[in-house]
Amino acid sequence: MNPGNAQSASHDAEALIEIGRRVHEAGLVPASAGNLSARTTGGVWVTGRRARLGELTTADLYFVHDDGRVEGTGQAGPTSEIHLHRAVHAVRDTRFVVHTHSKAAVAASLLCDELPNVHYAAAMIGDSIPVVDYQPFGSEELAVAVGQALGAERHGAVLRHHGAVSIGDSLTQAVDRAILLDWLAELSYLALASGATRRLSREEMTHAAERMRIQTYSTEE
Ligand SMILES: [Zn+2]
Repeated sequence: MNPGNAQSASHDAEALIEIGRRVHEAGLVPASAGNLSARTTGGVWVTGRRARLGELTTADLYFVHDDGRVEGTGQAGPTSEIHLHRAVHAVRDTRFVVHTHSKAAVAASLLCDELPNVHYAAAMIGDSIPVVDYQPFGSEELAVAVGQALGAERHGAVLRHHGAVSIGDSLTQAVDRAILLDWLAELSYLALASGATRRLSREEMTHAAERMRIQTYSTEE
């Protein structure tokens, strides 16, 4: 196996195990739902089929080379969403991709085509947060649609009847964005289900995004 070197492989594995633990703790991946990946030299580390993200071990991780070869010690093989992970890493220079089955994201996805701007923190994900039309799980069509939804700028998207996808350049950022996306989806669901009609304008969202560029979120209340 030559996924980078042993030290970076161990670093990637530890990071995925920790991300899995945290998103499970946040309630975003019931049972064996959800999957993760980490981009490194020559390919991506991904979680395995039916792996429980809250209890990952190195046996649940696989290295998928850029040419498609797979290495790993487990029997399950890489997640069925390997196309999705590779598609996102192909369009974005990011370290981690996190796919959850956020309950709030699924609920919101049934009510809208784009999460409404009900809180300025949505700007931390992107200018808008699209709902990707339903495609079968594990399909190339879903992978392409998610890649297009994220495009060059967005850090997350909602998958109709399915869940959510987000990206991050660090362990903390990957976890925080997955949790933020879930929280925004819950706000959206609550607002839409109650018939609320107020929205932040495009100008207010742009202003919020600009303020966040010059301040960290932790100082922005
Ligand atoms: Zn899924």
